[in-house]
Amino acid sequence: MPSALVVGGGPAGSMSAAALARFSDVTVLEDHPEPGVPMECTGLVSPEALRLLDARPDIYNSFSILNVVFPSGRRVTFDCGEVKAHLIDRAGLDRMLAERAEDAGARFIYGARAESLSAGDGVRVRTASGGEFSADLLVGADGQSSKVRRLTGASPRRYVRGIQHDIRHRMDSQDSIDVFLGSDVAPGFFAWMIPFGDRTRIGLCASMDAPLPSELLRNLKSRTGTSDSEVVSKSSGKIPLGLRGRTFADRVMLIGDAASQVKPVSGGGLYPIARAVPHLAQTAEAAFAAGDLSARSLSPYERAWRRDLRGELRTGMMLRMMYGNLTDGDLDRVAGEVDDDRVREMVRSVSIDSTADLFRMAMRSPRLAMRALPFIARGLVP
Ligand SMILES: Cc1cc2nc3c(=O)[nH]c(=O)nc-3n(C[C@H](O)[C@H](O)[C@H](O)COP(=O)(O)OP(=O)(O)OC[C@H]3O[C@@H](n4cnc5c(N)ncnc54)[C@H](O)[C@@H]3O)c2cc1C
Repeated sequence: MPSALVVGGGPAGSMSAAALARFSDVTVLEDHPEPGVPMECTGLVSPEALRLLDARPDIYNSFSILNVVFPSGRRVTFDCGEVKAHLIDRAGLDRMLAERAEDAGARFIYGARAESLSAGDGVRVRTASGGEFSADLLVGADGQSSKVRRLTGASPRRYVRGIQHDIRHRMDSQDSIDVFLGSDVAPGFFAWMIPFGDRTRIGLCASMDAPLPSELLRNLKSRTGTSDSEVVSKSSGKIPLGLRGRTFADRVMLIGDAASQVKPVSGGGLYPIARAVPHLAQTAEAAFAAGDLSARSLSPYERAWRRDLRGELRTGMMLRMMYGNLTDGDLDRVAGEVDDDRVREMVRSVSIDSTADLFRMAMRSPRLAMRALPFIARGLVP
């Protein structure tokens, strides 16, 4: 039986391992002692993403309303009339996905940090504690700071960094998410407040050249009157946006954050992983069957996942870059344009996994396209 070594036991690693275990002997190396810890994620997913992940983690809360708070403080509400996002137990999801991969036959080795990697005639990995592993195929599911990625020569186009606190604070509305825009809380990205009963998940992501996330979070708490609320837990992390280079090389494939398979508009990575895993498995199975694990033989993977996620990634990246060039004044003018029933109707009709569709839809409406034009021009030519 051919063999695969998966580095990283997060959602991308576990889902890949479960799929590969159908036709190969799979070992997963994970540097932490257990799956899902530490948690560096908000845990927001669409109902469709949850269906694709095919797991039932605890759902802490569900949301049908989005409030966007612009820099001036103006709040624009989009009531979608149906659940668009769930707040899930992300650590629980990681545990379930790892268990499923084990049930499928994959062997997990925890506390195993892959340190030196090579992929020539075969794949060889040595761990920090001196363990040696070899296999036919290496899958890099080792997150945003991937070591495996170096073997492909790829690198993320950019990163945003995030911080998040769970605080003891009950928000008035339990079925809506607040998203905050503006340079004082989240330059280049956005901030959020998400209710789940007596607690609230408050956090933000911002571009790398922005002030420290901890400083921005202090501003956000002060603006939302939550500075004195007890902090129950803290997390932080980086999100890769876009990729220079390829997600395959001789005997190597990348998946998840290691491949920058992240929606640039929202920073969400779980949905793209669920879409990319079947492509990885299909290409690997064909390559094993052909006895050819060369880069050429693995290249259909890249074409397939990019085709599948193209709209969201390409348009999303363009929107993200344009957004980064808008000033607070521009964003406040955008507030005036999106506070509109036609826009509300469009928001209702799209999934959070295809937010770039919203832009495409708006561009098909001559009236909205005309109104968006000055902002597109400002975004493209800062
Ligand atoms: C602040 C923040 C909020 C987010 N919110 C959301 C959200 O609400 N919804 C959403 O869909 N996405 C969200 N994301 C993105 C999401 O968390 C990631 O896209 C997702 O975790 C990627 O999964 P992965 O398996 O590729 O990587 P990871 O989950 O990072 O898993 C990689 C694993 O590899 C292990 N590893 C790394 N290096 C090695 C090594 N050398 N040897 C062995 N093991 C190694 C790590 O320990 C880790 O367990 C958020 C990200 C951040 C930072």
